[in-house]
Amino acid sequence: AAPADAALTADRVTKRFAGLVALDAVDLSVRPGEIVGLIGPNGSGKTTLINALSGVVPATSGTVRIDGRDIAGLPSHRVARLGIGRSFQNIRLFKDLTVLENVIVAVTGSGRGRAGGAVAERAMAALAELGVDGLAGRRAGQLAYGEQRRVEIARALAMRPRYLLLDEPAAGMNPAESEALMRLLDDLRRRTGLGLLLVEHDLKLVMRLCDRVVVLNKGQVIAAGVPDQVQADPAVVEAYIGR
Ligand code: ADP
Repeated sequence: AAPADAALTADRVTKRFAGLVALDAVDLSVRPGEIVGLIGPNGSGKTTLINALSGVVPATSGTVRIDGRDIAGLPSHRVARLGIGRSFQNIRLFKDLTVLENVIVAVTGSGRGRAGGAVAERAMAALAELGVDGLAGRRAGQLAYGEQRRVEIARALAMRPRYLLLDEPAAGMNPAESEALMRLLDDLRRRTGLGLLLVEHDLKLVMRLCDRVVVLNKGQVIAAGVPDQVQADPAVVEAYIGR
């Protein structure tokens, strides 16, 4: 079981790119079983925050902790082993490998996706969680777009993360596909206690699904709280509409 203080936390995380402050003293936490929405206009720092939380891009200052453990200086594959999974905005499947091989490669970190029974079983279980185990033998490049998105999430899940960071997982999906994916993620976190951080541009969907919402604008948190609170916040309305 997760300890009482289990959480993925950002504490005053700042990221500078040359002259640009992409993240400015951002605080955020995701606890087990929770869905936190991360929203904000284009260029507000959402992807950069996911990169900082997953060790892909180190923070310039501030601290990222996974269940109390500071990730400073750790490469992203070590951060992954500490329990952070993520998906990317652009699909990153190996198109010539099968769906199952794609997941196995992610778990074993090498090879052409051949592995013993235990790893294959684990990969199949992750595909089943996303409802795409029936596609295991197909080449990833032949799948429909929405199916590829699900395989990507399955691949992250096969690493057995405690926190999963999803960067626009429903991008390019039609409303029915996106709704089905969100229901699946909601069910998954309730059953497994996975903590989810969701970047999603459909505000209605975010407000309906998320326990809490964090709003970024120009690298700063301008609002954070339960959906009703955040939705009614004048600063949020201003950031989205008053530009
Ligand atoms: P969002 O995901 O909210 O659209 P990003 O995190 O992608 O925002 O970008 C935040 C800001 O940081 C933008 O101004 C973007 O141009 C800048 N940025 C992101 N990555 C880099 C990088 N590798 N080098 C320079 N600037 C970057």
